[in-house]
Amino acid sequence: MSVPPVGVLRDRFGRVATDLRISLTDLCSLRCTYCMPAEGLPWLSKRERLDDDEFVRLADLFVRLGVTSIRLTGGEPLVHPTLPDVVARLAALTPRPELSLTTNGVTLDRSARKLADAGLDRINVSVDTLDAARFTELTRRDRLPSVLAGVAAAAAAGLTPVKINSVLVRDSNLHEAPQLLGWALREGYRLRFIEHMPLDADHTWSRDDMVTADEILALLEGAGYQLRPHGARTHAPAEEFDVLDGPERDAWAEPTGRLGIIASVTRPFCRECDRLRLTADGQLRTCLFAQSETDLRAPLRAGASDTELTELIVAAVAQKQSGHGIGSAAFVQPDRSMSAIGG
Ligand code: SAM
Ligand code: SF4
Repeated sequence: MSVPPVGVLRDRFGRVATDLRISLTDLCSLRCTYCMPAEGLPWLSKRERLDDDEFVRLADLFVRLGVTSIRLTGGEPLVHPTLPDVVARLAALTPRPELSLTTNGVTLDRSARKLADAGLDRINVSVDTLDAARFTELTRRDRLPSVLAGVAAAAAAGLTPVKINSVLVRDSNLHEAPQLLGWALREGYRLRFIEHMPLDADHTWSRDDMVTADEILALLEGAGYQLRPHGARTHAPAEEFDVLDGPERDAWAEPTGRLGIIASVTRPFCRECDRLRLTADGQLRTCLFAQSETDLRAPLRAGASDTELTELIVAAVAQKQSGHGIGSAAFVQPDRSMSAIGG
């Protein structure tokens, strides 16, 4: 296939997609309350999930269409048995995309080095609390020590700066925000707080109850942190802040700390969105909150050519919705929850 012109993945609003999130599996080793029900979800069968050849073939098409970064996620991508091999195969694509992983970190201490050697560039590990009992409550699994060992292993393997994702939940870990920031600053990790989005399988999300970016910033400032916006907003969903001062400043790994806040609900970045998502069963989603998907698996398995698949992808991207519309009266939560889409 010849290389199409740059910017071919352009939608009606002029946005160009350059970032692809691939959910390698819907399975997960945790059951975070804000994401999944205690009993898990009706999992896809092995046959329903794409195999590695199919993931790599589609990723190759996206890269040829202008995607420059690929994030592997899930469910829990570390549960995917051949993850290092997938990373190595993606790293061999031309042009080589930047490769990152979002993980709960549960078995990361055993695989961080292998992943770095295979070509992984960056990693985000989800850590919502540093308190073992609260971790068990929030994730319904007693795995905090292995997650923390995984974070340390990622740093030792050179997957730096290690980013930490935290979702704050009222009446649970909200008051821990300053401690989480203090820990990240001491260890040299980049912390990003993510606003809870209406993508939980239990449909318990409520706008009135969710913790907002404003509330998080006020809480951190109240705890003695001095924050300043870091430059202009980019395509990245996180709003970045320099941490100029705060408690235990002498113990910080860097002279100036950094904090990110992903405020998808209260400070949406839809106008700048450059993301696409491929689910574990081969459905292309152009928005986390889309009500429709484009099936790439059926044509792929029916023998579609690269040109035919490319046409489907280009047409789907062209129809990307302008924004998530969470605030509007017409908003309807998508059928798939976060773990089934790929966060
Ligand atoms: N299992 C991996 C993990 O937890 O990092 C990857 C998949 S998970 C769906 C990706 C990210 O989405 C995690 O950082 C998680 O905290 C976040 N997440 C899950 N459900 C969410 C929700 N309803 N709103 C906001 N973030 C959510
Ligand atoms: Fe699993 Fe990640 Fe969802 Fe937690 S947030 S249940 S680790 S997919």
